[in-house]
Amino acid sequence: MHTLISERQIREGVARLAAEIDADYHGRPLTVLGVLTGSIIFLSDLVRCLNQPLRVGLIQASSYRGPTTTPGELTINTALLPQVAGRDVLLLDDIYDTGQTLARLLRELVQFEPRSVRSAVLLWKEGRQTVDVVPDYHGFKIPNVFVVGYGLDFNDEFRNLRHIARLDAAPGAPANSVPE
Ligand code: 5GP
Ligand code: MG
Repeated sequence: MHTLISERQIREGVARLAAEIDADYHGRPLTVLGVLTGSIIFLSDLVRCLNQPLRVGLIQASSYRGPTTTPGELTINTALLPQVAGRDVLLLDDIYDTGQTLARLLRELVQFEPRSVRSAVLLWKEGRQTVDVVPDYHGFKIPNVFVVGYGLDFNDEFRNLRHIARLDAAPGAPANSVPE
């Protein structure tokens, strides 16, 4: 596996993002909403860099993946969502790829009547977007490669890597089984 973004670069990127967010919200109370499961590490690091009153919440987005690695239909689970009515919400996801997940989550959230919703992603995969919505904050732009680590998985593994790595081939699998 090839390191794409080192632990130190991530730390600096997250601190830079937090400074931007702090400056924009001017101490206004915020609900930081992490998208399960990929955002958990990013969420825990980012909230500890923010210097303003905040609540943490979770929402789940999963696309069913069958025996192949082709993403299927997207399911949103709001069972864990805290009260966000009248609150400023910052939606946090690991990676912005086609943008379908972010667009869908933003549509769902509006129904819960937050005061405002912005979005932040750690990674932005360039040239893949199929929607008009773009994240308000992002840590790093990356090329169109499949990445793991720092919350991002392949087959639910590798989330615990401290850096972001490019997955060249699925372990023990033929090279052509790498997800797109
Ligand atoms: P989108 O809906 O923007 O196409 O995809 C967003 C979701 O796809 C992410 O939240 C993540 O779960 C998954 N995803 C997209 N690209 C990658 C990648 O390179 N690595 C991993 N591990 N997940 C990815
Ligand atoms: Mg995800």
